[in-house]
Amino acid sequence: MLIVLLGPPAAGKGTQAERIVKYLSIPHISTGDILRQNIRENTELGKIALRYINKGDLVPDKVIIAEIKERLERTDCKDGALLDGFPRTLNQAKELDKLFTVDKVIDIKVDDHTLLKRVMSRQTCLKCGRSYASKDDGRCLCGGQLYTRADDTKEAFVNRLNNYHKLTLPITDYYAAQKKLISVDGKGDAQEVFENIKKHLNYNLVGKEG
Ligand code: ADP
Repeated sequence: MLIVLLGPPAAGKGTQAERIVKYLSIPHISTGDILRQNIRENTELGKIALRYINKGDLVPDKVIIAEIKERLERTDCKDGALLDGFPRTLNQAKELDKLFTVDKVIDIKVDDHTLLKRVMSRQTCLKCGRSYASKDDGRCLCGGQLYTRADDTKEAFVNRLNNYHKLTLPITDYYAAQKKLISVDGKGDAQEVFENIKKHLNYNLVGKEG
């Protein structure tokens, strides 16, 4: 079962992804986390990503598609995966369709004003990538150090948001036409949003109400 998680930056994709993969027992593949880890480890992919990510620009399609293909071919993804942050352009969505079958697409909707407020105060864990609305003691539940992401500045965020509206939003129409799109309101409390996602997933995938 291959599921795509869509939504603007800071919509809560990471938070919901954590809950969804636990519920469905599938691996979580976050392109943002993969790129940030590669930057920290100074790999070839990290060196390329560094040219784009901090400004809020997208990494070239060719680079990210090759990385996703390699990940999804690994044995831990043989029963499916949750893609978080990919696809992000219509071209990426079409290339993904050539390689694998997407079952469902969950689109988390949040207005721009709320997103900006969230991003300006959020802290992210260096070790596991989990993000917090605000956390005073500087430590993640996993013990990792919290930091402010280099692209969580107002300038980079506005760029990310513009890219989302211009390049990523058209993907929702593409998946709606394939009757795979599930839209949920992402403004509420994280557990509320998850209950809503779960209801749709149970109806669509398991075929029962839950
Ligand atoms: P957010 O959704 O909050 O913007 P992510 O962690 O998903 O954060 O992504 C951070 C950055 O990583 C993006 O702004 C972009 O530079 C890069 N990135 C992640 N996924 C992709 C992708 N599918 N295509 C191109 N660039 C990507």
